[in-house]
Amino acid sequence: MNIPWVDLTIQHRNIRSEINSAIQDVLDRGDFILGHDVTKLEEEFAAYCGTKYAVGVDNGLSALELSLRAFGIGSGDEVIVPAHTFTATAAAVSFSGAKPIFVDIDPETLNLDVEKIEEAITSRTKAILPVHLYGLPVDMNVILGIAEKYNLIVVEDACQGHGANYKGQRVGSLGNAAGFSFYPTKNLGACGDGGMVTTNDAKAAETIRALRNCGQTAKNVHELSPFNRRLDNLQAAILRVKLPYLDQWIESRRKLAALYNKLLAGSEVVIPVEPPGYRHVYHLYVIRSKNRDALQAYLKERGIGTAIHYPNPVHLQPFYTKGEDKRGQFPIAEKACTEILSLPMYPELTEEQVESVVSEIIGQLKPVM
Ligand SMILES: *Cc1c(COP(=O)(O)O)cnc(C)c1O
Repeated sequence: MNIPWVDLTIQHRNIRSEINSAIQDVLDRGDFILGHDVTKLEEEFAAYCGTKYAVGVDNGLSALELSLRAFGIGSGDEVIVPAHTFTATAAAVSFSGAKPIFVDIDPETLNLDVEKIEEAITSRTKAILPVHLYGLPVDMNVILGIAEKYNLIVVEDACQGHGANYKGQRVGSLGNAAGFSFYPTKNLGACGDGGMVTTNDAKAAETIRALRNCGQTAKNVHELSPFNRRLDNLQAAILRVKLPYLDQWIESRRKLAALYNKLLAGSEVVIPVEPPGYRHVYHLYVIRSKNRDALQAYLKERGIGTAIHYPNPVHLQPFYTKGEDKRGQFPIAEKACTEILSLPMYPELTEEQVESVVSEIIGQLKPVM
């Protein structure tokens, strides 16, 4: 058996001729920087998310950092982030000059525990940066209520959430702004790095357009911090080919997740939840097992690839501990990191492959005597 946890080659084989011709068009026009496809992708992605504006940037981390900067967040400010996420969530806060304030996660959804946000708020808190982790939206209504009460900005980390829905609304359209990543493995992935900010705020969109392009507010007028965070036109052209397929790829992920859920029900592993009114897009299909390391090794021996997203909570990363022992601060996140396992999940995975993965898992849990 050989079932990797993710396989990007099948998708590109299926749409190769469309991608090749999109690349060829860019080569023929020669508009490599902020060209036609960046502008069109921004329009198309904004329409997809249901926002007025979208601004293409070089990666998801930049999308989050520039969103914070566009709302004036920086040195001396605090921003609330979940303890369990990809490091880039907290890094975006750090690089803006502000301080990430970690909050523990909900033991069921593994998303930010919205009940614990208020106790982390201080006079310096300026924003909340919640994450739609694994493709499951976080409880945004509660977060938006807290933001209103304390006059905070909300930037969604939608880097794993393309196409997810929360109570009928697409993620990316729920807060003041949202950051998306087009890292190749994401539900909408480039053939390299890429990112996008979505927002309904005209001024924020304009500021991010200037920030990404050497702080240029008008031709040859460099007024803001001079970063270069532009999205490549070649990547935008490839993403424009892929965007029309996104919903069918998500449907495929959801079908595969439903099959995993059905086959794993009643076993010792904990399957992911999808609360009513939430539409999970299964960027990752993450189970939990007390027996995680042994299960992962067993599957590996049988040719089944898995991954751990992520083995260490962010507050325990050396960049944030600065050599101090911070263990025990966020026990739910710390425990989850020892139990989570990402099973194979990509739109082109077959039902037979899911069945094989599950039968190996069941076989490992209940060894035949
Ligand atoms: C992928 C990811 C990012 C960062 O995206 P890059 O494009 O790699 O910079 C940020 N947050 C989360 C939750 C992610 O999964």
